[in-house]
Amino acid sequence: MRCVPGAKLGPMHEMSLAEGVLQLIEDAAHQQQFEKVVAVWLEIGQLAGVEVDAMKFCFDAVTRDTLAHGARLEIIAVPGTGWCMACATTVPMNEVFGACPTCGGYQMQVTGGTEMRVKELEVA
Ligand SMILES: [Zn+2]
Repeated sequence: MRCVPGAKLGPMHEMSLAEGVLQLIEDAAHQQQFEKVVAVWLEIGQLAGVEVDAMKFCFDAVTRDTLAHGARLEIIAVPGTGWCMACATTVPMNEVFGACPTCGGYQMQVTGGTEMRVKELEVA
């Protein structure tokens, strides 16, 4: 077995995120007494490093034979934003280490679009 530190984990990353989503759904089902989930709205920040296709695949895999079996997964992309120190303003960011679209500088601090969260559930 080879270990490659820093290598992108690929679908494993999405798999553990999908498991986290399922856990959250099961907790909500327990608290709010519903038995079936029809649709899940998932907000994914564009800087979160989550691949939408992989996420859909993993979601289908982990929800098999659960209360969310066959649920529709709706992805809402949240744009990335960063603070440019040179411009002293918030600007859109497409990648974590991207340049400022206004001044082209790299003194950027990511301020948004790095998270993933379950926004809404449609339950039955
Ligand atoms: Zn700038």
